This record gives sequence, structure tokens and C-alpha cells, in this order.
Amino acid sequence: MIVVPVYDMILASDANIYFNTSQVRRNAGDKGLVAGERVVLIVARDSESFKDLSSEGFYPVGISGEIREINNQGYVVIHTGYRVNVENIEIGADKSISLSMTRRSDIEDMSRSVEKEKLEGMLAEMRKFASGFDWADSAEYWLRQIDSLERAACVMSPWMDIPNEERYAILAEDSRLKRAELIEEALYGFMEVGRITNEAMTSQQEEHQKMYREQAIKRQMEHLQKELDEMHPENVTDIQKFEQKIAESGMNETARKEAEKVLNRLKQEGSQSAESGMLYDYLDFVTGLSWKKEEASHIDLGKAREVLDEDHFGLDKVKDRIIQQIAVMNLKNEQSGSILLFVGAPGTGKTSIGRSIARALGREYVRVSLGGVHDESDIRGHRRTYIGAMPGRVMDGIHKSGVSNPVMVLDEVDKLSASYNGSPASALLEVLDPEQNNTFTDHYMNVPYDLSDVMFICTANTTDTIPEPLLNRMEVIQFSGYTPVEKLSIAREHLVPKSMDAMGIDPEIMEVTDEALKKIISDYTMEAGVRGLRKRIDTLCRVLAVKVATDPERKLKVTPEVVDEEIDARPIQHSRILPEPKAGVVTGLAWTPVGGEILYIETMLTKGRGETIITGQLGDVMKESARIAVSLVKTIFPDKAELFAENDLHIHVPEGAVPKDGPSAGIALTTALSSLVTGHVVDPHIAMTGEVALRGTVTLIGGLPEKLMAAERAGITKVFIPDDNEYDLKDVADEVKDKIEIRTVSKVEDVLRATGILA
Ligand code: ADP
Repeated sequence: MIVVPVYDMILASDANIYFNTSQVRRNAGDKGLVAGERVVLIVARDSESFKDLSSEGFYPVGISGEIREINNQGYVVIHTGYRVNVENIEIGADKSISLSMTRRSDIEDMSRSVEKEKLEGMLAEMRKFASGFDWADSAEYWLRQIDSLERAACVMSPWMDIPNEERYAILAEDSRLKRAELIEEALYGFMEVGRITNEAMTSQQEEHQKMYREQAIKRQMEHLQKELDEMHPENVTDIQKFEQKIAESGMNETARKEAEKVLNRLKQEGSQSAESGMLYDYLDFVTGLSWKKEEASHIDLGKAREVLDEDHFGLDKVKDRIIQQIAVMNLKNEQSGSILLFVGAPGTGKTSIGRSIARALGREYVRVSLGGVHDESDIRGHRRTYIGAMPGRVMDGIHKSGVSNPVMVLDEVDKLSASYNGSPASALLEVLDPEQNNTFTDHYMNVPYDLSDVMFICTANTTDTIPEPLLNRMEVIQFSGYTPVEKLSIAREHLVPKSMDAMGIDPEIMEVTDEALKKIISDYTMEAGVRGLRKRIDTLCRVLAVKVATDPERKLKVTPEVVDEEIDARPIQHSRILPEPKAGVVTGLAWTPVGGEILYIETMLTKGRGETIITGQLGDVMKESARIAVSLVKTIFPDKAELFAENDLHIHVPEGAVPKDGPSAGIALTTALSSLVTGHVVDPHIAMTGEVALRGTVTLIGGLPEKLMAAERAGITKVFIPDDNEYDLKDVADEVKDKIEIRTVSKVEDVLRATGILA
């Protein structure tokens, strides 16, 4: 008996199978082949065990047969008989195979008529199938030989692309009916594939045809995918990588379903399609997000304060407020707390303290810039139907942070603007709303994400341009700017060491004196924050780093002279006070988003007919203040009233404050007009701020700390402020209060008397 190992073919009884002579002979030893000799065909599990003839590599069911014909053109025909159980397979040194076997009986559960019907159906289908191809004629020869489904399977087997296990499953099936069904499935499936490939598809409406077709397409796809995978191993690794990432990500149900949908599309599209880049990006994005909920940890308040103090000088009120917030978060065991809005001039430390808070909390930090954002989709993401669609900035920030609970600084919320593409502010509202942000749905992601553990901190230069509903959600904390003394400490303790470190300068070699820093602060910067100061220090260190590099032994001492020599900038005009005082000109104080400013209110009477001309940035806003001022001056100086009738009045406010701050120039305007009509010159070192009512009372203004600091910077010696603002003086740095004489006033006349206009 000859044992013939086979692989990758369908074996069934009562069929002629064609073998290569050498394949059969190899196992027949030297005896040669004789027609009528008994053989047993055993099925290898895979191509390896077929090649290597390992005894474990064979399935337990084979089929017996006999040699029908030995053809001298190189093939042997084996006719198959009954199925056998094979055991004890042994491979000899000469590669001969021995085994023991027992017959395996069929379950006779198929009637003759069913069998006949199935065969006829199959043959008809096969004829139809063959007719679509140009080998239809030669197919007829084969078809005529087929008198059982099993034969059909054997004949078609070499062309069929189905896995070895499925081929074997047909052989191993004991029920004849089931076996026939398996064969039908395989053959109809194969023919469908053939049709699809040949594009000779006819529309078959019958239900089972449809089912076969579906399976066929699937198989075909799997096959093509396998081929594609072999061509592009990198794609396989991506897909496997994503599969693994999706499984491990801990995504919610909706997100996982969406990701799997996209992954399936990617599998089908392959890496070469136009869409695959987008699909890849999507998967990369969602699997890169953290979907795990982080535990809220208890924060040691003392340590947190230490961290805040380490990173930033001063800002005590701000730090106190932050510590309170952390304490509340500790108590409530939550991670987000209320939303803080830091408001102040640039360079006052708003953004960098956000980073510091993250450090104090031991959380990740991420900054999202909102300046210039005018599309809703910038916040909420673009729908993926757009080419180049991207997630919104908030989700992008979360992605960058790699966690679900970062401290997120939303920078410049006052610079959001609405456009025809929707309102980014309302999208932001949703992000910040604790009621809804646990299911925030970015359009790009298209699935909800929980933002409720994110600690949001917003920054702005002014609250004026923040929409009311948004502002209501946040708790405003003012950063009012630094005094020169504070700036000196910030420079000495933070900016200089940081800058030296960045330039690689050893602190041992270079010493920056306080005088030098003071010089930079007073002569080379004019700002509320310390951003310009930092830039100047960086420039200085960069220039000096070159010197250090050329002569490492040299010790450098940075004195005011060195500063003048090395800083590549023109010193700022020291005294900005008017050099030639004139009647009708008075120094006012203004608040701007970048800090306080001093400004000159200039007035002039020219021949005319009593008209009022207002020029300068605040034109319209000043009109009302100007009317009030004129009326007041007319009543205070009744004898000068006709001056306004005979002349045109020209008011000019050269430097810009924000429009809302316009009225707070009321007192300065009234004083300037009084000075004009009386000819009494007001000392330009005296500044004033305050609204004026028609009764002559001076009323409350905003931004007092910024205004006073600007006055101090400009060299003002005396300032008049409204009585009502006395309370705000507690927020003004002592050194400012020490340098400037601050006088509170309740009536216009108080100022006019104090400046000598009224006796
Ligand atoms: P803002 O966000 O208010 O415009 P930044 O936070 O960007 O300002 O600060 C500008 C620079 O000034 C940063 O390098 C920051 O570290 C530094 N800085 C600001 N305030 C302080 C401070 N109080 N102590 C130390 N460094 C400060």
C-alpha cells in the first residue's frame, strides 16, 4: 500500500484525482507503480508539514483509493474509495510513510432524489459559469465526467481558492447531506468569485445565491487583503497596531464602535487609497487620546504653595486664590474646580502660572491658544467629510497632553471673534459647562469625550470683549502688573538665572548687578509685565555668552555701563512728561489691555461759532464727556461762558485708551478746559483720573492699580483719584504709594483748587 500525502485539494470518494508521477513514486519506494495498487491519501495540515513530512502534521481523516492509470506522460490517476481514520503515522529514514487505518463510515442521510437534484442544479450552474469564459468548450469534457457532487468538488478543486482547513472539512464530514452542502457552498462560492473577477456577473435574485455571493466576496476580499498585506507589510503592522491600541485604550462603547468601523474601512481601502491617510489619522488621533479616568489625588497644600512660590515671585493674591481652589478640590474630591479667568497685561505671568499650577497638582499641562479663532470648528473640530478635516483645538490639546485630566490653559479668550462660520464662544461655552462637558462631542471625533476632569484656566487681557455668558462661567482674577521693585526681584531670582541657564553660562563666571537690572527696567522697558524685560535680559546674556565662549577664564560683571554698551536698543525717553507746560493741557491716566498709560488731554479755542471738534482715538466716546465738561466750566466760570459761543473748541486725546475707559478722562477734560479759559497752567507732573457728573461730583473708575503704576513709570508725582476708589488702594503696591502723592477728591472744584486754577 502506498501512502500519498496531499495538500490543498478537495478529496472525495468516487473521484479521479490526477497526481504527478514523482509525487506518488516518492512514497512507493523502489518498487515502481502498478495499476490497481491500493493507496491511501492523507491530508497535510499546511504546506510545511507537506514538505517536511512530519508525522504530527497530518489530519486524522484520509481516503483510500487505487491506482487507475499510470500515464507515461508523467501523471498517475488515483480513484478514491472510502474515507479512513488514520493513526500511528511514522516517517521512515527514506521518507516512506507507514500508518494504521480503519474505515470511517458515512451517515446516510441524503436521499437519492435530493442527491440527484443537487447534482443537476450544480451541473447547470457550472455550465452557466463556464459559458462566461473562453474555455467553455474544454470545460464540457470535464463536465460530462461529473456524476456526483464529490467528483465535481475534486475536478474544480485545483482552481478554487479556499483554505486547506475548509477543503479538509469536506472530507472529514460524516453526514453525506452536510458534506454535499459544504461542497455546494464551496463550489457556488467559487463560481461567484469567478463571475465577479470575470465581470460576467448575472443578477441572481434567489436568496441562497445572494448568500453565496456575499460569502464569496468576503473570501475574495480576504484573499486580496492577504495579497495586499504581503505587498505592504507596513500596512499590516499599522492595522495590528491599531487593533491592539483600540483593545487596550479603554474607550467607551460608542468610541470603540466608531474606531472599529474606521479600522475596517482602512483594511478594505489599503494603504494606497486616497482616503487611507484620513482614516489613519483618525485612528491615530482617537487611539492617542487617554480614555482612562485618572484618580483624583489629595494635594498637600503646603507643598503646592511651595511650588507656586518657586516658579513665580509675588502674585500673592493670585496664589492665595489658587490654593483655596485646590483646597476645595481636595474637599470635594474632584479634579476640575471652578474655571479661573486670569486677566491682565501681557507678560504678567498669567500663562506661566498655569503651568505652575499643573506642576503643583502633579498634573499634565497643556496650553491652547485661542487668539484669532473665529470659526466654531476651530473649537469643535471639522466634520470628517471635509478634506483636511481636523479635530478642534480643545481635543487636540487633550491629545497632546496624553491624559484625560490635564490643566488646560485657554489663552486669550478675549480674542475670540464670531464669523459667518458660527460662534467659537458658544462652542467654548459647551467645553466649559460642567453640565454638558462630560459628553463633549468634537465633530471630527464624532463620539463623546469626557472633559469633566480637565482643569480649565482662561487668560485674557481684558474682560470687555468676552461675551457675557462665557464671562459668567468664570471667576475673574486680576493680574495688575509689576512695580519696578517687583520687576527687579523677578529679574534677579527668575529671569536672569533662566536666561543664563538657557545660554549655557555658568553663574560663577557672570554676575549681573542690581544696578544693571534697574537700568534695564527703567531705561529699556516700559511695560506692565516682564516680557520685554525678559527679552532684554536674553539679548544681554546672548551677547555676553559669546564673550564667555571666547575667553572662558574671564569673569564678567554686568554693570549699568555694560548694559548701555551691549544692549542693542535705544533707551526709552526717560521723562515722558511734557517739556513745555501750556494752559489747556492736562495729564490724564488711562487703562489699556496692555497695562496703564498716561495721556495728555489737549484743548484749544479757535475763532468760530461755538462748535466742538474732537479728534484722537476716542472721538465719539469723548463727546459726552466733553459736553459735560463744557457745561461745568460754563457754570464754574460764568464770566468765561461767552468764550465758547465766540470760538470753536478743539479737544484732542492723542494716545489711546479703550473706548470704555473714555469717560474716566472726565475730570482731566474739565480741568484742561478750566485751565484753557483761565490761562492757568497745570503742572504736567500732576495726573488725574475720574468720571464727572453734571453736578460736578467725581465718580468711580476702573483699573486703578494699572493707572497708578503707569503714572509711577512715567515720573508723575501727584495723582488725583475719585473718593470712591479709595478702597482700591489696597491693591496698589506700597512703593507706588510711597513715590506718588495720591489725593482723593469728590468734586471737580477740589481738583481745580488743588491745581491753583480756582483760588
Ligand atoms: P502672560 O501670559 O501674562 O502674557 P507669561 O506667563 O507668558 O505672561 O509670562 C512671561 C514671562 O515672564 C514668563 O517667562 C514668566 O515666567 C515670566 N514671569 C511673569 N511673572 C513672573 C513672576 N511673578 N515671577 C517669575 N517670572 C515671571
